[in-house]
Amino acid sequence: MQKFSAFALAKEALSGQKGWTRQWRDAAPKPAYEAIIVGGGGHGLGTAYYLAKKHGLRNIAVLEKGWIGGGNTGRNTTIIRSNYLFDESAALYDHSVKLWEGLSADLNYNVMFSQRGVMMLSHNVHDEQVFKRHVHANRLNGVDNEWLSPDQAKSFCPPLNIAPGMRHAVTGAALQRRAGTARHDAVAWGYARAADALGVDIIQNCEVTGIDRDASGRVSGVQTSRGAIATRRLGIVAAGNTSVLMAMAGQRMPLESYPLQALVSEPIKPIFPCVVMSNTIHAYISQSDKGELVIGAGTDAYISYSQRGALHISSHTLEAICELFPMFRRMRMLRNWGGIVDVTPDRSPIIAKTEVPGLYVNCGWGTGGFKATPGSADLFAYTMAKDEPHKINAPFNLERFGAGRLIDEAAAAAVAH
Ligand SMILES: Cc1cc2nc3c(=O)[nH]c(=O)nc-3n(C[C@H](O)[C@H](O)[C@H](O)COP(=O)(O)OP(=O)(O)OC[C@H]3O[C@@H](n4cnc5c(N)ncnc54)[C@H](O)[C@@H]3O)c2cc1C
Repeated sequence: MQKFSAFALAKEALSGQKGWTRQWRDAAPKPAYEAIIVGGGGHGLGTAYYLAKKHGLRNIAVLEKGWIGGGNTGRNTTIIRSNYLFDESAALYDHSVKLWEGLSADLNYNVMFSQRGVMMLSHNVHDEQVFKRHVHANRLNGVDNEWLSPDQAKSFCPPLNIAPGMRHAVTGAALQRRAGTARHDAVAWGYARAADALGVDIIQNCEVTGIDRDASGRVSGVQTSRGAIATRRLGIVAAGNTSVLMAMAGQRMPLESYPLQALVSEPIKPIFPCVVMSNTIHAYISQSDKGELVIGAGTDAYISYSQRGALHISSHTLEAICELFPMFRRMRMLRNWGGIVDVTPDRSPIIAKTEVPGLYVNCGWGTGGFKATPGSADLFAYTMAKDEPHKINAPFNLERFGAGRLIDEAAAAAVAH
């Protein structure tokens, strides 16, 4: 693999940038693989990387029906944080934040992880009680989180309006300083490049259309738009399309798929130093390195596979943004888009074996799985390699929906971006 370094950059700058090679091979499918991952998003590519790097598997393919990173990985607002309420969630998401902290070095690819802080606004007594409970629970779990007064919140994010007469006055905020953002495309490309260097075949424009099982019921391969491919170890990491794929193996999933949308403004000079979220009025905002304000809205009220959201949802979010940040009122929005998110009843993910031998599933990240990309991929690779979950993802199984052992982050925060 070609190394990125200050020396390589200087050499290419002086020689017309002609020495860079392809970042990964354009692989054609082989007849059989030791493991196949369906879904070339960050979670799928990361799983292939860790399977090769940590568990020594070499004959691995990632099958992607479109282009890598073209799903939710390339459509999200890139918020990364680990200040979740329940012990199980804090362990899972903080495992991820720790991996984010070393990811650029690990992959030799700049994923632009920026720990600029995520501030979650409170607007009423209920918010305050909920967020203070989060602060205390997080600290007990070794996860940083602190409570700010409205004045402290404004000094951390100067454009914030804390005037008391507002419709949704700011009564305080919870701040996780280690939280932040990363560059979404770079995460897909960085994992793809590093996985390819370990021999993983990344096969784009290859849609999985069927899952084959042998007489014992075990997975034996997949049917694809580029022919049949044999495998006895199959990982489904297909976000909003998970139910469709799992149905090919006769598995019903506790998932609903909704469109979730985001939008960006015209670019402006750096003005917004952190990420601000308001769960109550459902808006979140940060500024990209290009200068655009990146704004996330809520999910549509109805399930759908359309990759765009309803206009009234984004209008509602923009009203909230203009009230919280009046100086953005005259800005123009440049573009908006949607992704399909797969939502579980408790808004926590599933990273698990299934009752079909050889079939594993990583899904249910809903509106908030980008932040978990490295941790989820690491734990899913462990589960697939060892045919048993790691202790961190053991609670995130399928059985919890039958047994009632929910990890109810929906009730805890009402939102999970
Ligand atoms: C608008 C929006 C904003 C968001 N904001 C945040 C945020 O701020 N922070 C956060 O943490 N999370 C956020 N999320 C959620 C986050 O984007 C996802 O949870 C995460 O990216 C999921 O990654 P993935 O790799 O599992 O899925 P994806 O990146 O969607 O990858 C799945 C891939 O599977 C492929 N696929 C599907 N079916 C098949 C098939 N039959 N054959 C082959 N390939 C197939 C798809 O083409 C897709 O590329 C947001 C999501 C959206 C839509």
